[in-house]
Amino acid sequence: MPKSLQPIFVTKSFLPPKEEFYRYIDEIFDSRILTNQGKFVGELERRLGESLNLSHVLACSNGTLALMLALRLAGLSGKKVITTPFTYVATLSAIMWEGCTPVFADIDAETLCMSPESLRECMKRYPDAKGVMPVHVFGNVCDVEAIEAICREFGLLCIYDACHAFGSSYKGRSALDYGDYSVCSFHATKLFHTVEGGCLVVHGDQDAHQARLLRAFGHLGDDHFCLGFNAKLSEIHAAMGLALLPQLQAVIDARRTASLLYDSLLLPDMFARPVLSQNLEYNYAYYPVLLDSEETLLALKQDLARQQIFTRRYFYPSLTTLPYLPDVSREPCPVTEDVALRVLCLPLSTELEKQEIVRITDAANGFFMR
Ligand SMILES: *Cc1c(COP(=O)(O)O)cnc(C)c1O
Repeated sequence: MPKSLQPIFVTKSFLPPKEEFYRYIDEIFDSRILTNQGKFVGELERRLGESLNLSHVLACSNGTLALMLALRLAGLSGKKVITTPFTYVATLSAIMWEGCTPVFADIDAETLCMSPESLRECMKRYPDAKGVMPVHVFGNVCDVEAIEAICREFGLLCIYDACHAFGSSYKGRSALDYGDYSVCSFHATKLFHTVEGGCLVVHGDQDAHQARLLRAFGHLGDDHFCLGFNAKLSEIHAAMGLALLPQLQAVIDARRTASLLYDSLLLPDMFARPVLSQNLEYNYAYYPVLLDSEETLLALKQDLARQQIFTRRYFYPSLTTLPYLPDVSREPCPVTEDVALRVLCLPLSTELEKQEIVRITDAANGFFMR
């Protein structure tokens, strides 16, 4: 197939050199230790902690369960928890599976992360809310200082959904270091992955101990302490993470190069961009653009698809529109409801080539020049 017709997908999972992965797999075949506190999960946790400068990183089977674990650990199960409707549905699912009532604060129109003003408004309407789960959308970092001040003022616990934020830092600290708890996803489509997986970041030894219990059925040997989950990561999944981790800087560098090329080639008047927070070292996890209307978005998306260029509406629809929301969670969030109609993520992956970006931007700019 000529290169000009080969499909370009919105994302393409990055894989380590096979030999690197197989070295770990060979060892797993020799030891027959496949899961349950094996050596590679421990090594992955230790190396993640070292590279991100975090004392307690707990590997989990996926980000969604890690979010549920965090809610339970924070004592928020069954309480009111504030999040935003501009996120992947799993943020909300975790809240609802923990029996919490979700309340939506709106996002900031520029950063697309939770608006601190809207959070404050929410606290006026729902003074019984006990926790907040803001999302570092597209790897951008929330206004962590303003959110922390509000949490302190109202006695809220803060769990960051940092599923997009691996590799992003704010004021020299990993995005995963903010909040009372922080959760990342290591799903295959994320910047760093273990095929399926995720992690929970906690800050004290006591919390770390409790989180380990919750992660593995709530018991140690024959002593049962609490109602637990099975949220363990397997040794094989940890092996993927260990093989990929040395590539992390190269992954981020490649995505930065691709993003900057997009910036330089796209017509700036047609493709608005979210605003990155100040003092952010960005991970270039996604390449979202904001179009002027949903009508433009749909026509552009279709036009690109005809040329084998596949984009994704992300996040769409606004979670305020979900059919299974409790009625109290249905208050409108006008910024999200507008933005969710107009955001489109263009293809971005570690191995995306320069000529592919030229093909994408020629097609996208061409749509507006006809
Ligand atoms: C991917 C993602 C999740 C869910 O993570 P899984 O590992 O797929 O369970 C949650 N929140 C956000 C913002 C995500 O992007």
